[in-house]
Amino acid sequence: MNLYRIKKSNIDRTGHGLYATKDIKEGTRIMNYIGNIITKKQTEESKKFDNEKPIYLFNLNNRYDLDGDVSWNTARLINHSCSNNCDYEGKGLKLWVVTIKDIKKGEEFTCDYGFGYDADYKQFPCKCGANNCVGYIVREGSRWRINKKFKKTQRVNR
Ligand SMILES: [Zn+2]
Repeated sequence: MNLYRIKKSNIDRTGHGLYATKDIKEGTRIMNYIGNIITKKQTEESKKFDNEKPIYLFNLNNRYDLDGDVSWNTARLINHSCSNNCDYEGKGLKLWVVTIKDIKKGEEFTCDYGFGYDADYKQFPCKCGANNCVGYIVREGSRWRINKKFKKTQRVNR
């Protein structure tokens, strides 16, 4: 039985998300993250990846990337959250999604998309609804920069 089902997402209201079909323990592999394995050269030369933050592109090693932007990769439907309950893991040329918290039946699976903090972070608003949401899709280690910025702006506004 699949541990997930596809449903309209509460996070990405225009799209879909993956939801737990039963209670799942922390450390469980939900599904593989699949796609086309391409060389770094192909990545560099492809117009598809001109964007600074290709959501579905994973660095596998020095030579290869994985392009998960293919219809048969169901794991691409997992949305970003500032309080994610899953993470991407990999070994060799394989990637998968693993739970990093206990998950209740009916909860949406979420990951940290791992975007860095840079000038164009505002292009990717986050609507995850978590208490600690910083409002933009930025990886956990860089969110303090946005929090700091928010505080500064608030102070100026007062
Ligand atoms: Zn968020």
